[in-house]
Amino acid sequence: MPTIVILTTGGTIAMKRDEAAGGAVPTLDGSDFLAALPPGLPELRVEEYCNLPSAHFALDTLWGLRSRVAELLDKPEVDGVVVTHGTDVMEESAYLLDLTVPGEKPMVLTGAMRTASQIGYEGLANLVAAVRVAASPQARRLGAMIVMNDEIHAARFVTKAHTQSVDTFKSLSFGPLGRVDGDEVVIGQRVTRQWIPGGGLESNVVLIKLAVGLDESFLKYAIEKGVKGVVIEALGGGRVPPWWMPTIRQAVEAGVAVVIASRCPSGRVWDGYGYEGAYNDLRGAGVLFANGLNGQKARLKLMVVLEAAEDRSAIPQLWAS
Ligand code: ASP
Repeated sequence: MPTIVILTTGGTIAMKRDEAAGGAVPTLDGSDFLAALPPGLPELRVEEYCNLPSAHFALDTLWGLRSRVAELLDKPEVDGVVVTHGTDVMEESAYLLDLTVPGEKPMVLTGAMRTASQIGYEGLANLVAAVRVAASPQARRLGAMIVMNDEIHAARFVTKAHTQSVDTFKSLSFGPLGRVDGDEVVIGQRVTRQWIPGGGLESNVVLIKLAVGLDESFLKYAIEKGVKGVVIEALGGGRVPPWWMPTIRQAVEAGVAVVIASRCPSGRVWDGYGYEGAYNDLRGAGVLFANGLNGQKARLKLMVVLEAAEDRSAIPQLWAS
């Protein structure tokens, strides 16, 4: 019988309406979840890491969660970990675990879009499905996953795509890895993990989103402030207005790691154009490309890479791993 640890962090899955607060707030703890789960599941242990809305996570909260998951999975008696988590930044926590926690054991994040005070609360159904995935031998070597709405998503590709719907998590480029049908875990496709031996997060990294006609003053400001890394969510397949190029070149020359992601919700950064500010021009300027990661995940990866790199020359190789 596999042993699964449920590590609770808060989020809507743990929330109930509180009259004094005027809305839902984190309320349920691990023992509430255990008491509500049906029989017939693998051996479960619960541990509370925190009880926060995920918008209240600081970088220390995120890295501490990563470290606790790594410690738990290092124990021979633990076969997998389920993290209950707010959906708002769940994809970032999932991706950090995927990128930096070694080993083959499943790491599954789950949550809810409706609170435990609402009709149709889906938190327990999601938790049961997540436990089944964490205990499944088929889920080994898939890294971190998000399991919600009976779908299994790879951390690297999934994003929160709807502000309200219970069907919010989407892997827009390649689709989900599989499904949970009742008590059956069905894996339809597998991913190869990218892994970096992470030692922490370099916090001095910013994310800037492009829009038509936007001037480059935020980028200039970031460089003046001595930022170590910048992720730019560029247009389409990786394009910036021509007036951004001198500042991007200046940033690279000053030793700032510049990553180009796309503001499109799916697809890699690549194009075949020859004009100023397009992919080839950016490549010539010495930037890194996000290779299918969205802006928020590219930022996290850059934070891990900058912390892991002994010097600047190590950055491109670490980034490519
Ligand atoms: N506000 C919630 C959070 O902690 C949203 C959710 O969990 O669905 O991210």
